[in-house]
Amino acid sequence: TVGCVLLDSRGLLAAGTSTGGLMNQYQGRVGDSAIIGSGLYADNNNGACSTTGDGESIIPVVLAKTAIDFLAGDRHPDEAAQMAIETLKSKVTGEAGCILIDPTGRVGWAHNSSDMACGYMTDSLEKPAVFTKKN
Ligand code: ASP
Repeated sequence: TVGCVLLDSRGLLAAGTSTGGLMNQYQGRVGDSAIIGSGLYADNNNGACSTTGDGESIIPVVLAKTAIDFLAGDRHPDEAAQMAIETLKSKVTGEAGCILIDPTGRVGWAHNSSDMACGYMTDSLEKPAVFTKKN
């Protein structure tokens, strides 16, 4: 997956995702990426999220919406993302990750896969900063 979340200058939030699906997937399979709430979700009042990983694990926990729900009460997106991944781990097997942005522009991400590269850009950066968190 290549996913993105953004906050524009008018305060509008958006999420996007692109996927090649999974290796050897059966014909007709629809992964999480096409399902609002699982592969991505955006709500101007609460946040935006894009997910990656095993759709069969992401869909049952509605991962993108679950992560945004964890933003309630002004929780930092890094913590909300981690809580969403912990929820996934407690309910299903499989690997996933999510990126989050809140209405103030704070970003966060978490994953239970071994790697997930993330980058972000702000008004004050001339080029995107890229980060990875190892598990
Ligand atoms: N989430 C995708 C799927 O399950 C795979 C990916 O691109 O991460 O179809």
